[in-house]
Amino acid sequence: MLEDLKSEIIVTAQEAQRTGLMRHRSGNVSALDKEKGLIVITPSGIDREALQIRDISVVRLEDLALIEGEKPSSETLMHAACYRVREDIRAIVHTHSPVATAFAVCERPVPAIVYEMFLFHTADGCIPVAPFARPGTKELADAVAGVIKENDLALMARHGAIAVGKSAEEALLAAHYIEEFATVYMHALQISQGKEPAAFTRDELDAWEYPEEILPHRK
Ligand SMILES: [Zn+2]
Repeated sequence: MLEDLKSEIIVTAQEAQRTGLMRHRSGNVSALDKEKGLIVITPSGIDREALQIRDISVVRLEDLALIEGEKPSSETLMHAACYRVREDIRAIVHTHSPVATAFAVCERPVPAIVYEMFLFHTADGCIPVAPFARPGTKELADAVAGVIKENDLALMARHGAIAVGKSAEEALLAAHYIEEFATVYMHALQISQGKEPAAFTRDELDAWEYPEEILPHRK
């Protein structure tokens, strides 16, 4: 059942591991089949490189009934809560990527210090921090969903990062961007000895567009 979606999240989790976003079996990836109301999600405790189709769990969004698989991720509740508040998303990538997690540990949002932030839906232009709650709890699911409701990217206080998208590929790209933005911000703070770099406002990001008349175009 849902083999294509299962393959997609295996490829995504393996790519996240290879690129250092997900290490030591941390993090999880899910995708939603909207019509069937089913979530496919990575299991806990299995090395990403060893993942097989049969390891992927299928969970019903409505009541979290386990349809297939043995050990769905311990953060299944959080994934489901995010799908419930965002009708438009089809995939979620949660990581403990190191620089983003360092800001999450300090409960510091990452401001829009580079223009690429305009690519993402954010309430205030920055990557916000969802309040702390213990992993695997309903409190955490509610806290994260509350922030994901208005943001494609978020840090999870004292825990990690979460990114959502219209496909697993898109959510993974967003997870890469979280780590990239956090890394640039960290370096900027180091270079300026803690002085906050200038950041784009939400309005500036909304107004961002490339000047078409000077881009190469067919005559
Ligand atoms: Zn986690």
